[in-house]
Amino acid sequence: MKNREILFKMENVKAYYKLEEVTVKAVDDVSLEIFEDEVIGIVGESGSGKTTLSNVISMNIMKPLTLVEGKVFLKINGEFEEISSMSREEVKKKFWGKEITIVPQAAMNALMPTIKMSKYIEHLAQSHGIDKNELLSKAEKRFEEVGLDPLWLKRYPFELSGGMKQRAVIAIATILNPVLLIVDEPTSALDVVNQKIFLKVLMQMKKMGIVKSIVFITHDIATVRQIADRMVVMYAGKIAEISPIEEIVQKPLHPYTQGLLNSVLTPEPEIRKRGITTIPGAPPNLVNPPSGCRFHPRCSYAMDICKEKVPPLKEIEKNRKVACFLYMEERK
Ligand code: SF4
Repeated sequence: MKNREILFKMENVKAYYKLEEVTVKAVDDVSLEIFEDEVIGIVGESGSGKTTLSNVISMNIMKPLTLVEGKVFLKINGEFEEISSMSREEVKKKFWGKEITIVPQAAMNALMPTIKMSKYIEHLAQSHGIDKNELLSKAEKRFEEVGLDPLWLKRYPFELSGGMKQRAVIAIATILNPVLLIVDEPTSALDVVNQKIFLKVLMQMKKMGIVKSIVFITHDIATVRQIADRMVVMYAGKIAEISPIEEIVQKPLHPYTQGLLNSVLTPEPEIRKRGITTIPGAPPNLVNPPSGCRFHPRCSYAMDICKEKVPPLKEIEKNRKVACFLYMEERK
């Protein structure tokens, strides 16, 4: 993997849902860097903290979600700005759309059926103080770039198929050419054909420089394999492993990553030859997660230390980080 400039970083972030009676530790002491010109895939089971992490990256933090600890930085004009010291409204006004854009889960279903697509562009033009007609003609071009006839701008969302709607959403979301694009489960509601088209569109956008880096959040490892440069595996609010994609598929290090890769039906020969297995047990409740390594109740390699201490995320091979005592001196 090439040495790349860091575009975004978060340090020791704890983001919890503070509810009346309980606190859900959805992202717990997570540090992460995103490089310029990369696609980073974030995978994990439901409830592993992926979506919360995406909200932290874009500082889309609304109660009951609270940034308890840690810092978040975004590189703006070559300098890191600490966006975690700003309010959500400030980050939204200054950076959303232009520097960072998040397309949340099921975004296409959030389009109002009675509002024409072009109205969304007009609204964006108004909120960013841009000439309406200028942005509309840019939208026509962007629609073409994602394989949609610009005439669809004059139509209502209910007239578009699911695949077309998802492409329309990505065209609108990237209209101001954001540097960092975050997409949360963008393909899960699409059929296989439309999934392929959407991934192609996404990669084309990166190639054309419409977006610089992409954070792709999914539970679908096969999709990440197709488009990502690196994979981040989350388990119970923490990062279990970060690695370049080829290396993690060929040799997953963390026992959870091994289980995750071995439990998917995939045409990948590296994964298939290891056979299909399942991970015993279920992900923990994040109100009261297990002590030490959160994976220890499900891990067949668990040692005494795993129940007592939290394994730090450490670089144990070039560009490969893992949070597991199997690879650390402390276990001896
Ligand atoms: Fe398993 Fe221990 Fe590694 Fe956790 S730290 S994954 S329990 S071996």
